[in-house]
Amino acid sequence: MPELPEVETTRRGIRSALRGRSVTALVLRESRLRWPVDRAFLAELPGQRVREVRRRAKYLLIELEHGTLIAHLGMSGSLRVLPADTPPLAHDHYDLQLEGGRCLRFNDPRRFGSLHWASGDPQQHRLLARLGPEPLGKYFNADYLAGRARGRKVAIKQFLMDQHVVVGVGNIYASEALYRAGISPRRAAGRISRARLERLVGAVREVLAEAIREGGTTLRDYVGADGHPGYFRRRLYVYERAGEPCRRCGNALRQIVQGQRSTYYCPSCQT
Ligand SMILES: [Zn+2]
Repeated sequence: MPELPEVETTRRGIRSALRGRSVTALVLRESRLRWPVDRAFLAELPGQRVREVRRRAKYLLIELEHGTLIAHLGMSGSLRVLPADTPPLAHDHYDLQLEGGRCLRFNDPRRFGSLHWASGDPQQHRLLARLGPEPLGKYFNADYLAGRARGRKVAIKQFLMDQHVVVGVGNIYASEALYRAGISPRRAAGRISRARLERLVGAVREVLAEAIREGGTTLRDYVGADGHPGYFRRRLYVYERAGEPCRRCGNALRQIVQGQRSTYYCPSCQT
């Protein structure tokens, strides 16, 4: 599933092809995505120039002159820039066609992706308004995390994956950051010292920044905007390595299930 680094990699991959170009049409082949795509806004798009391509959490924000397209890749979606006359394949659900003969094409076999139009401030859109801070932004720090964690009995792994606490720390990166910080994924969020939370904030930032630099993690069918797989996978310390030796202490790594998601950790290095 595309996580924050994959979405950021997509943003960087498509930005230069979109920015400054006028939209000629949005061709919608399938409106039954995670939420039905509202066809009412399609007629408003032609002639509007793309001002910028931003990211908030795992949403891509394509800012036009009179509003913003809010796109989510879901579980299996990808966005690519292609010549507009490339014949569509199965699961190619929409094309944002641009002047100059290219288009931004969305493919998503499982249809958990989404597309919305916000005519006002996109940060106030119902999908974005209540999200926690960005993990790479200045508001995500040890003071903030300690304040949110105070008195909480929920396991730190699930706490870290709560989008109201911090956005974009998915299953892979939560496991990897907890390993790097030496914190057991099962420990109650409210029972971790401020010093250890500070290490955790650093580990979250480090693991996400590394993954972005490497172009995301290759997981099954994920490919970046340019069609090349990401290279972060070779840097994973615990994820999908159950039974293999810990690279620090040599003991076997373990797998448990928390909130229906697999967690990977080292029972010796993480306490
Ligand atoms: Zn270990």
